[in-house]
Amino acid sequence: MTDSKIKSQKPKTGDTGVGFIQTTLTAPATAADVALRPLAFGDFAGQSKTVERLKVMVGAARRRGEALNHILLSGPPGLGKTTLAFILGAEMGRNVRITSGPVIEKAGDLAGLLTNLEEGDILFIDEIHRLPKTVEEYLYSAMEDYRLDIMIDQGPNARSVRLSLPKFTLVGATTRAGLLTAPLRSRFTLQTRLDYYDAATLLGIVRRSCGLLKVELDEDGGREIATRARGTPRIANNLIYFIRDFAQEKAQGRITRAVAAAALELLEIDVRGLDEMDKRILRVMAQHYAGGPVGMNTIAVAVGEEAETLEEVHEPFLIMEGYLQRTPQGRVLTAMGYQAIGLKPAGGAQGELL
Ligand code: ADP
Repeated sequence: MTDSKIKSQKPKTGDTGVGFIQTTLTAPATAADVALRPLAFGDFAGQSKTVERLKVMVGAARRRGEALNHILLSGPPGLGKTTLAFILGAEMGRNVRITSGPVIEKAGDLAGLLTNLEEGDILFIDEIHRLPKTVEEYLYSAMEDYRLDIMIDQGPNARSVRLSLPKFTLVGATTRAGLLTAPLRSRFTLQTRLDYYDAATLLGIVRRSCGLLKVELDEDGGREIATRARGTPRIANNLIYFIRDFAQEKAQGRITRAVAAAALELLEIDVRGLDEMDKRILRVMAQHYAGGPVGMNTIAVAVGEEAETLEEVHEPFLIMEGYLQRTPQGRVLTAMGYQAIGLKPAGGAQGELL
């Protein structure tokens, strides 16, 4: 990889500034992210199926001397989609250009990006489900035939101009694969989903990050961070940065279990990794809506957050951990969900204190 241009990004929908986790979860990549980002498949822990699929594609494309086929990476924020795009660039020895769906407002923006690519370059479009529909339609022929037919001028002078493009690779990333249109989705040769990381894999990531940051970490301290990081490397790394400061200020710099626990308590992240917003969602459901079913828009108004953020950031984790269920009638709180906020289900009523 010779050069990686970062186009300025508008804030993502989830970048609400509400509390520590909300801002760090969905904010565009920070210097902290970049410092700890794995640069090769060998440093990238977990996601074995996705990694295996990508390695096959990279191996074959390199052998044939061709550009990689288009790839769609989906999954919640912070699991490594951008990281994988950079790794693909490095493994292919190509440039990676980064942009995001909402930033590309007009066909002209897309034309500008695509015509500046070199043969084999990777164009990474984050939040590709938020690409305007009019722009998306231009992408079809760009992806399929490496050409772009754009209209120039208006009225009687309007004419279509065909631009031929270098053979590039589009790597799309989305937190909401379900929102992608069928024509766009079908143009990705590989569609692969990243899952939350298990605690053992996250522990490995925590150890690696602490090593890179030269932070002293106890085995138990690492485990405490790994189990409370919501299965998400970005959160684990952000916690490490905070706990490192905490350890420096309060405990001679070493992250032990007690130090990690005290720092996490200060951040209001509980033993299950739930943050304030997660608990607010569960509480609203228990206490205002008798455990549901209740619609996400209603919950969003009650907790003061955008429904989109709740669906992209909070809900997948709450469902995966078994605190919430999604039903055709709406979201329903489970017995575990009640327990997580210190209540027990009370036959559809508001829940009683445990
Ligand atoms: P996404 O694009 O899915 O939101 P990123 O690729 O930006 O997520 O990942 C966020 C940060 O988490 C990265 O900067 C990197 O430091 C770390 N990270 C993600 N996946 C891994 C992994 N598998 N191993 C180690 N670190 C990872």
